[in-house]
Amino acid sequence: MSRIVVVGGGWAGCAAAVAAKKKGMDVVLLERTDMLLGTGLVGGIMRNNGRFTAAEEMIAIGAEELFELIDGCCKYKNIDFPGHKNASLYDISMAQRRIKLFLKEKGIKVFMETRVDEAFKDGPFLKKVYAGKNRVFEGDFFIDATGTAGPQKNCAKYGNGCVMCIMRCPTFGGRTGLADLCGTSLYSAENGKGFKGAMSGSCKLMKDSLSRQLINNLELYGVAVVPLADDSIGDLTSIKACQQYASQEYKENIVLLNTGHAKMMIPFLKLEKLQEIPGLENSRYEDPYSGGRGNSIRLAGMVPCDEYMRAENVYNLFCCGEKAGPMVGHTEALVTGTIAGWNAALKADGKECVKLPEDLAVGDYIKYSLIKTEKKEGVINKMTFSGSVYFDRMKEKSLYSINIQQIREKVSRLGMENFFRA
Ligand SMILES: Cc1cc2nc3c(=O)[nH]c(=O)nc-3n(C[C@H](O)[C@H](O)[C@H](O)COP(=O)(O)OP(=O)(O)OC[C@H]3O[C@@H](n4cnc5c(N)ncnc54)[C@H](O)[C@@H]3O)c2cc1C
Repeated sequence: MSRIVVVGGGWAGCAAAVAAKKKGMDVVLLERTDMLLGTGLVGGIMRNNGRFTAAEEMIAIGAEELFELIDGCCKYKNIDFPGHKNASLYDISMAQRRIKLFLKEKGIKVFMETRVDEAFKDGPFLKKVYAGKNRVFEGDFFIDATGTAGPQKNCAKYGNGCVMCIMRCPTFGGRTGLADLCGTSLYSAENGKGFKGAMSGSCKLMKDSLSRQLINNLELYGVAVVPLADDSIGDLTSIKACQQYASQEYKENIVLLNTGHAKMMIPFLKLEKLQEIPGLENSRYEDPYSGGRGNSIRLAGMVPCDEYMRAENVYNLFCCGEKAGPMVGHTEALVTGTIAGWNAALKADGKECVKLPEDLAVGDYIKYSLIKTEKKEGVINKMTFSGSVYFDRMKEKSLYSINIQQIREKVSRLGMENFFRA
């Protein structure tokens, strides 16, 4: 049995591990911190706008496992908030343990607090990775799912310094990409105004630090919108990794979502300013802990790769999630992770890689995102099913649908029903 080593246990790495395991591989998943899900630990929004279509397509083509587990962690389903429809919000505390148990039940060997810091190559072949001097993991195929958040030196260089986010670099050591360790040249996102990388676009406030009325609204509806009296948020939206929340509504209101904590849809705001807003007088940041100063820097170290999610220059290395390009979101990470895991397993079996058809949003998304990245356009535009340029494209090409029956029929017409079950 061939061995696939997945480095990074965010949504992309988890999806890659599940896909490779379904193909009968011996799968090892290495995660540097003590929790799986990476930035998914502070996310939570699923199915908003085009992500609904993408999730249902993935379920219909046989990659339903993680989507269904996530649905089971959602207290709020089918809710709307400014610019976004049909969203679900998963509970960020509940999800990670459920996923870890599921991976272990499937027979995936999960190693926590295992930070890969060295790679050994023989010509174009990656042979093994090290986590410290004495821990070696050999593999036939490898997947880089290390994301792009941090490390501290990037947050200092391109952001406002380390603001103590969920990545917890001082405790577990900074993010290190596997492709980087193999010597691959990386590229960065920028905002067209000289800002390198992108700043994470939301923070968590402790729900209990909000006014009773805001807590009640969040409990009842999952959403609370607080209009602002002035332009205190300013143009923070242009530096955000998630352009789908860069509209005027997010400059004029504080939008809060109930993901267990209160997810605030701006990158950061000085605590003194935040506490001037009615209902937020006693507010405290939960993530990042110094959210009054800034947020984590992302997308400053991505790997050139193709539609099969093969990384450039290393024969047996695949790549997925944010590491594979400016493809932002949990759903997006689950899509590219599934393809990377499946293709790594196919190659390990001596078969050809596959790609998803462009008639499906998930196939078109991967192709479009990577083509745009090649032309450098994608480096400014971040790609997500949930808004901005790619959601516009979905609508133009009639790829967007919230009709589950219609999505299933289309998948069946394309002969894709059991694609990830074969
Ligand atoms: C604050 C914030 C809020 C967000 N909110 C949402 C949201 O609500 N909805 C949404 O769809 N998207 C959201 N996103 C974006 C989304 O979280 C990401 O685009 C997506 O989850 C990326 O997944 P990933 O697996 O590629 O990377 P990551 O989530 O970054 O995971 C990478 C993992 O690799 C590990 N790792 C790194 N280096 C090593 C190493 N050398 N060895 C071993 N392990 C390593 C890391 O510890 C991490 O666990 C949010 C992002 C942030 C930062």
